[in-house]
Amino acid sequence: MGPESYYDILGVSRDADDKEIRKAYRNLARKYHPDVCKEPGAEERFKKINEAYSVLSDPGKRAQYDRMGHEAYSSASRGSYSGGGYSSGFSADFSGFGDIFETFFGGGFAGGGRQNTGPRPGADILVKLRITLEEAVFGTEKEVEVEHIEPCLECDGTGSETKKTVICPTCGGTGQMRQMSQSLFGNFVRMSTCSTCNGRGRVPETRCRTCNGTGHRRARRTVKVRIPPGVDTGMRLRMEGYGDFGDYGAPPGDLYVEITVAPDRAFTRRGDDLETTVDITPAQAALGSEVEVQTIDGRTVSLSVPAGVQHDTRLRIRGEGVRWQTKPGDMLVRVSIVIPERLTDEERELYERLLEVEGRKPSSMKGAKKGRGFFHDVVDRMKETVK
Ligand SMILES: [Zn+2]
Ligand SMILES: [Zn+2]
Repeated sequence: MGPESYYDILGVSRDADDKEIRKAYRNLARKYHPDVCKEPGAEERFKKINEAYSVLSDPGKRAQYDRMGHEAYSSASRGSYSGGGYSSGFSADFSGFGDIFETFFGGGFAGGGRQNTGPRPGADILVKLRITLEEAVFGTEKEVEVEHIEPCLECDGTGSETKKTVICPTCGGTGQMRQMSQSLFGNFVRMSTCSTCNGRGRVPETRCRTCNGTGHRRARRTVKVRIPPGVDTGMRLRMEGYGDFGDYGAPPGDLYVEITVAPDRAFTRRGDDLETTVDITPAQAALGSEVEVQTIDGRTVSLSVPAGVQHDTRLRIRGEGVRWQTKPGDMLVRVSIVIPERLTDEERELYERLLEVEGRKPSSMKGAKKGRGFFHDVVDRMKETVK
């Protein structure tokens, strides 16, 4: 059995509408929220629920997920890290869920006490990556330079010369300080973040001189990103755990790679179809002909242009569009009839002869303006001449 699909995770059918998905998500998120649910594995479950919702609630992502299937879609958003070495633990992606949680938990989520104490997870990083249309169609592997926070090499990220941390003497490890304040209504105890340990609860035993006790250093790294076939401008690939290093003992953030597909000289993307243009002569259009067309990966395929084809007609070549694992898109070939600007003597003779033949037909100019068009008329007249 494969991994659970996003539909299974939310417990909805594949044709569930937005309302059903949102409702299922609300119920599950409320049930498994780490502030509410203390069952083992609740955090992991909560994270999966968020991941499923972030995809299924976005029509574009959902359509893409449906086409690619679970395996391909979810592995596409992971990639590989050339430097390696970080474990990717729990790091929920709360961005975009703020509005929902505010309604659930009375606005206490983002700024709440829980988030301010204990080791803090690393921040997410967003990098932009420009790729060619061909790379977007077939998928590729790219390297991106990322400047991020890494653990200090001297102290292994502990911030301590001895690589040991001790319980914060100011707050006793809670990360919070009590402050008494007086008001008209009496004395209040106000909790605030401990200023000695910044809410972490632990401090370095001996402050590391290299990082001044922070446990961090800034560094540039090269990250390998596997880009799945079919990506489009604006898509973000999420690489779990490749963001900034967090506090010692806390998970790192994620790296998001936002894709921009550069415009291509020959092809325009229309959903999963790729549109290109082929130039033909009036004679080819009138009589029909076999032409050669280049595919996005540089192969040549032949296309039969039917007799009497009109300018701007789109002809379809199946399966030569954007490559999804399930169903590839098509190539749309726009026929452009190019009138020759210079004629050889022989061509001139033939065109003159053609014009003469046309001249014998009444209402030829009217026919060219409406209905079946100039080339149909030409073909018909040629057939007549042949008889
Ligand atoms: Zn403290
Ligand atoms: Zn250090």
